[in-house]
Amino acid sequence: MNIPMLDLKAEYALLRDEIEPAVIEALAACQYIGGPNVKAFEAEAATYAGVKHAISCASGTDALLIALRAIGLGPGDEVITTAFTFVATASTVVMCGAKPVFVDIDPRTFNLDLNQVEAAITPATRAIVPVHLFGQPVHLEPLKALCDKHGLKLIEDAAQSFGADYAGRKSGAYGDIGCTSFYPSKNLSAFGDGGLMITDDDKLAAELRVLASHGSRVRYHHHVLGYNSRLDEIQAVILRVKLKRLDHFNDRRRAIADSYNRELAGLVETPFADGHGRHVYHQYTILSDRRDAIQKVLTDARIACAVYYPVPLHKQEMFAATNGQVTLPVTERTAQRCLSLPISPMLREDQIRHIGGVIRQALG
Ligand SMILES: *Cc1c(COP(=O)(O)O)cnc(C)c1O
Repeated sequence: MNIPMLDLKAEYALLRDEIEPAVIEALAACQYIGGPNVKAFEAEAATYAGVKHAISCASGTDALLIALRAIGLGPGDEVITTAFTFVATASTVVMCGAKPVFVDIDPRTFNLDLNQVEAAITPATRAIVPVHLFGQPVHLEPLKALCDKHGLKLIEDAAQSFGADYAGRKSGAYGDIGCTSFYPSKNLSAFGDGGLMITDDDKLAAELRVLASHGSRVRYHHHVLGYNSRLDEIQAVILRVKLKRLDHFNDRRRAIADSYNRELAGLVETPFADGHGRHVYHQYTILSDRRDAIQKVLTDARIACAVYYPVPLHKQEMFAATNGQVTLPVTERTAQRCLSLPISPMLREDQIRHIGGVIRQALG
């Protein structure tokens, strides 16, 4: 049985009767930039997330970059974040001329170790960027308290957690700005690139819009160095269809994680939900000392699996000059032991049993 990491074809088959006519309508309307679907999607996303403002942009990377620029991040500043994440969490800090300061992770949640954050704060620290890795909400309350105490901004990297809940709020809505991505593999995904910034702050929202549109408040008058970062009309059409399904799809991911947990209990370390908020299982990630053996057996059985992330950011050549001296023992050990298994709302029970059987055999 050939099992992909994420079954986008099954999802397309489910949604095509709704997506195709809507896309064709938008093609014929010819308002490809700044069209009605972009505005409607922003309003629907803001309502969904329970925030005053949702500002779309071209990618999750741009969402982070623009959010960091909006809080005034620049040369000499520091941002505290995790090294166990996708590169964009920290590359965007460097793009602003600032320095990422990596703090180790909790070995069970894979998220920032909340006990180590305060010690990393210096007079240069401007913000904390927690990542809700694999869809598990970071326990933000203590981070918010630190931000308030030290005058820092809290920017959530919610690229993997859109739709997750924390403290009665949707992921991304708790901090000063929440950033998410609609890259095709994300929980809410477009048929290409896209991103979103959410906030309750009127002034920040205005700044985000200006930065995303060439630093311009009045057309052809440019106040600050900005970007051309837009969600296009066709992607907005697709996202509007899919946003209606997001909660259902995330429920399915949780049910699949439960099935995996039962199937794999005692064989490997299954994902740990710390009880703060509701996980949306962007990835279902196990830990094992025999990770490489499991990966080989799964690959031989034509079952996709992936190591997210094999090289933590402080070990990347890109950050060698600024962060090469750092050691993060938990992050480094996790990178050697983690393996993400196939997950998508469409994954079937018989497929989960098959994957469990192959892993049991590998370890048996
Ligand atoms: C995907 C992702 C991003 C970047 O999003 P893009 O839309 O691919 O630019 C940033 N941070 C994390 C944690 C991600 O998973």
